[in-house]
Amino acid sequence: MKQRIALASEWVGRARRIVVLTGAGISAESGVPTFRGDEGLWKRHRPEKLATPEAFRRNPRLVWEWYRYRQALVEKTRPNDAHRALARLEEGREGFLLVTQNIDGHHERAGSRKVVELHGNLFRARCDECGERRSMRGETASTTIPRCARGHEMRPDVVWFGEALPVPALEEAWKGATQSDLFLVIGTSAQVHPAASLPLAAKESGSRVVEVNTAETVLTDVADLVLRGRAAKIVPLIARVEKGA
Ligand code: NAD
Repeated sequence: MKQRIALASEWVGRARRIVVLTGAGISAESGVPTFRGDEGLWKRHRPEKLATPEAFRRNPRLVWEWYRYRQALVEKTRPNDAHRALARLEEGREGFLLVTQNIDGHHERAGSRKVVELHGNLFRARCDECGERRSMRGETASTTIPRCARGHEMRPDVVWFGEALPVPALEEAWKGATQSDLFLVIGTSAQVHPAASLPLAAKESGSRVVEVNTAETVLTDVADLVLRGRAAKIVPLIARVEKGA
């Protein structure tokens, strides 16, 4: 393992264009709950029944109540050493892009700047009528449906089941992936497309793919290097920053 970490660290040191794709696994050690499985049930509603445009049309108040409950859960957590190491890795690098499937906002809180949020952000609201976006930080306790400046009801600015990913975000991620020379995949099961296609596109374009994950995934066979273990332990080592820095 030591040798593999040293090799990954060497690749990081030599790479000119690094793209990182993160998933729910990177926030697991922060204590961000998943919404899959029984522990994810809220008031006996299944997430698949709440995180949809139909649910919002039917009962926007209920959907907002659920999202505020999730905001409150995430607000109790903090970015961990893996988030912080990626923020440090970006410092002073031109060719760096962080692409995340997470909606918890922890990368930005940790100090990352160039972040593409493929699935949106839990702490943002959006108006589908006029396109206005607004931060919802500090409004977790509110019980009203947020409204835009023109008075329309706003929705959580996240990608729901059955919805397409935001095109500009996907294009930026795709461009970054195909131009990268090193692609780090951290804490994602790589089952949700199109995000999961990014490392494959990177590899086809000649990039090296490094996977950091506690378990085997569909990408394991594709990766040039696999680092099996916890992101908060491994990422600071390969990003050449001290743990806790
Ligand atoms: P996933 O739940 O499908 O997979 C998580 C992966 O992380 C697994 O492969 C697991 O082995 C790995 N993992 C778990 N703990 C780890 C650790 N400490 N270090 C390294 N790896 C670890 O997650 P996904 O691939 O991101 O897809 C799930 C979808 O759910 C995404 O679309 C995401 O938007 C959403 N989601 C987001 C959050 C969040 O914002 N934090 C949380 C839950 C789900």
